[in-house]
Amino acid sequence: MRIVRISAFGMALPLRRPYELQGGRLRYEQLDSTMVRIDTDEGVSGWGEACPWGSTYLPAFPRGIRAGIEELAPALIGQDPRRTDVVNSVMDTALPGHPYVKSAIDIACWDILGKATGLPVCDLLGGRRPGDVTIQSSIPSADPPEMLRNIERFSAKGYTIHSAKVGSGVAADIERIEYLAERMPAGSSLTVDVNRAWIPDQAIRVMQATEGVDAYFEQPCATYAECLQVRRATRQPILLDEIIHTYADLLRAHQDRACEGIGLKPNRVGGLTKARRIRDLCVQTGMRLNIEDTGGTALADTAAVHLAQATPARYRRGTWFCHEMITVDPIIGGARNLGGVTRAPEAPGLGAEPDRDALGRPLLVIGG
Ligand code: MG
Repeated sequence: MRIVRISAFGMALPLRRPYELQGGRLRYEQLDSTMVRIDTDEGVSGWGEACPWGSTYLPAFPRGIRAGIEELAPALIGQDPRRTDVVNSVMDTALPGHPYVKSAIDIACWDILGKATGLPVCDLLGGRRPGDVTIQSSIPSADPPEMLRNIERFSAKGYTIHSAKVGSGVAADIERIEYLAERMPAGSSLTVDVNRAWIPDQAIRVMQATEGVDAYFEQPCATYAECLQVRRATRQPILLDEIIHTYADLLRAHQDRACEGIGLKPNRVGGLTKARRIRDLCVQTGMRLNIEDTGGTALADTAAVHLAQATPARYRRGTWFCHEMITVDPIIGGARNLGGVTRAPEAPGLGAEPDRDALGRPLLVIGG
């Protein structure tokens, strides 16, 4: 089987409500997603999606994906898409780095491998594990009562993990965290996601002041060195997210005992092939995982759910559904919300693909 054509489509994804991170410093109203279709000489086609959370969340931006695919695609024409490690080697040779450019191509190759073998992607990633995958809520920065009302709304729909975004400053964040922790719905778990907003001084003061609170603290500072400094001065469990880009990043975090878990996002690390390697190291070293993507429709969410579904339940913390935060739903099939939990589809491949009518004309077609 050979790749004969790679097409990329742009898609605007308006958010249902403007979304704020870092205590309001970063604001988002619409995402810009790229859908990638790979066609083969045997008539099997695969789909992938790449959607950074705007241009300010990670060193990644939507138009960069399209430019990167244009750069990469000629090297991929003629490759066998079922050989996912080989495809990744070809991409890493043709364009070192730029993992967010490669993710949709890699995911489309897994979709093809699944369709060619008749297996869902979770089975190809090691095998479907028992149990549903928990969906975590995403609670934007706001005043504490509004954040609590938001948590209660999600809780009423069955959600048990809540990721509250903070990062305004020491006093405001201590107040927020204590207010929420005291009032969390019974049986639910709180993540305090700082999205890199604190400097070590602030992180240490907030975390020392809230030491009795049962919560995970996610990505307290912008750099690894800063997070490690915080780690050594505090006692709460830490999740690292934005700064884990490679297997080597995770290996260093394990060696330094820098965290208890990570956020694993296929788009950030370069797709399912590389995410699976990182997942495996987490399982081997006893780290927990949130497995979700940086953004997108139910297509990107479903790819992440396949990897989560193939991860042993005790290492799995949750996933997150961006597709519930946008006003459009152009995907047929896919992993859907079953009351705060989800399951990877049973169909071969991803079990999700765009509705052709929603796509419009491709921005880019490379190959015959
Ligand atoms: Mg995060």
